[in-house]
Amino acid sequence: MTTHSSPFDELKNQSNDSINYHSSVHDDINKIWLERVFRKHYFNCNSNIEIDDFVSQREFGFRLFDGHIRRHLNFNNKNELVANIIKHSPSDIFCSSSRYHNPSASIDQKGWIGSDLIFDIDGKDLHLECAQIHNLTYCKKCKLITSKVHLNCIECRSASIQIIEIPCQKCIKHLKLEVRKLIEILCDDFGIDNNSINIYFSGNNGFHIHVKDDKFFKSTSIKRSALTQYLLGKGYLTDNLGFRLNGSDKVTILSNKILYNVGWRARLMKQLHLQLKNHRIDEKFIKKINSIKETSKVGLLNVISSEIENLSVKIDPNVTMDIHRIFRLAGTVNSKSGLIKFHCLDLESFNPFNDACINEDSMVEINSKIEMKLIMKGMSYRIKMGVNCLPEFVAVYVVSKGIGDIYIQK
Ligand SMILES: [Zn+2]
Ligand SMILES: [Zn+2]
Repeated sequence: MTTHSSPFDELKNQSNDSINYHSSVHDDINKIWLERVFRKHYFNCNSNIEIDDFVSQREFGFRLFDGHIRRHLNFNNKNELVANIIKHSPSDIFCSSSRYHNPSASIDQKGWIGSDLIFDIDGKDLHLECAQIHNLTYCKKCKLITSKVHLNCIECRSASIQIIEIPCQKCIKHLKLEVRKLIEILCDDFGIDNNSINIYFSGNNGFHIHVKDDKFFKSTSIKRSALTQYLLGKGYLTDNLGFRLNGSDKVTILSNKILYNVGWRARLMKQLHLQLKNHRIDEKFIKKINSIKETSKVGLLNVISSEIENLSVKIDPNVTMDIHRIFRLAGTVNSKSGLIKFHCLDLESFNPFNDACINEDSMVEINSKIEMKLIMKGMSYRIKMGVNCLPEFVAVYVVSKGIGDIYIQK
């Protein structure tokens, strides 16, 4: 077991970190190989595919390796679902958060029953500095892959680029922090029971939080949207703090009957080190707030806005409010990475590069376009440019990320 903090170490040699690669033939070979490995995985290891007792009321979607997307699929039970997954070996498998009377009908004919509440926390929304360094840039025009994030291809200057995300342990740590913030607000402010919250690694660079709570099941899209605005801290009125700040930041107390130990008010007060005893704004409080005013260069309102930004949960609001969306099915492979959408029972110890790998470990050869190091299942793999012999669960990651091609068909 190594102690490296990242599954992806900086490329050793900048001049050697990219090659021109015209790989349309390889794309087909890669897809055929991935489809075969996915099928083998689903055949050997389908007990982790997670579906509740309402299979027959859910809409499923398959994205196939030939590029076709099939939506409005419906299965009577888990066995039928698994049989179809093995038969078609889709690159990605989705399931509705909603339950319907007729899940295979078109959207307006489905007969919506209700939806689980789902939150999406994605690494790219955290805008972490490390991501600029360890992510890669793929040029769609000349097919070049370069280390770091660039706005234009460094070779042909094309702006038609795609970022290949290779999350590091720091990215994962920050994502977990957002998950904890979300769960705290859901439990403390909305009274959601911790037991009805399930945390899943998305399979690539994020987390999905699924809430099964009767109070929210029938909520409309508008209500779900309002919930996201609350979590994002949008439109927070500073008057809700219980005191008012005039133009010159003079503090006026609104009422001494306000409760300060709950919700956003409590979180903000705690962040500003302004917790109150017995919910009372007293001399000591005024003194503290004045000292923030005096020591801050940006003004009290700006201090508060920036704390709201820090405390807000970085969810994608569009995902939560869309009640007809289909989501990656838990326990299935994400074709962007070859990792599994994994149910995290212990968020603290969860490491996607240990826990979310597929089990397949036959040795295969891949032709890597770059040099990199990956740490998966506790083993460190130094991948050199050119042909490497790797276990399938590592090779699947490299090929799914588009940074290597399968070399020999087994
Ligand atoms: Zn280019
Ligand atoms: Zn990172």
